[in-house]
Amino acid sequence: MNHKPYQEVIFSDQELTCDEADLLQDHILQCDDCYQLSTAWSTVERELQTPQMVDPEPGFVARWQVRLEAEQERRQNQQNMIMLSTTWGAAAALLIAIVYLAIPLIQSPKVVLYTYLYQLLNLFSVVTFVQSFTAGLMDGLTSGIPWVTIVFAVGLITLMGVLWVVSLRVLTRSRSVTL
Ligand SMILES: [Zn+2]
Repeated sequence: MNHKPYQEVIFSDQELTCDEADLLQDHILQCDDCYQLSTAWSTVERELQTPQMVDPEPGFVARWQVRLEAEQERRQNQQNMIMLSTTWGAAAALLIAIVYLAIPLIQSPKVVLYTYLYQLLNLFSVVTFVQSFTAGLMDGLTSGIPWVTIVFAVGLITLMGVLWVVSLRVLTRSRSVTL
């Protein structure tokens, strides 16, 4: 059976004459291949004619923009909250460490004086270190380090400061034993 002329008719985008339509109909009823081809092709043609891209509803872009801005604001607030809580957490830890340090020292005024002089000296070197580190971070800011990274770095430095104070406390305690 020669399918080719029928398949050409199926794929043709011209209107069929009545004879052609009848001939095709007769053939399709007998031939599974051409029947399947014909139904598949009409499905494809229907899909192609259906508009796929539905126009957005009026005001869609504006609403989307508002949502985007709200999302950006929410993220910014979240970052600010992380920054605030990290800073306050570190400050609280530092305060607790300082109070913990101060309580036993009050009992011995001479040790207090020496310890404070020693700590002041150390604090000065730490402040210098933090200053140079912060300057480095500020340089890094211009190259686009995310804020969260900076906040965590600052938090880490503060925690290291707390650790330093605590270890200093241990050191001065063992020293006061030898006095
Ligand atoms: Zn056929």
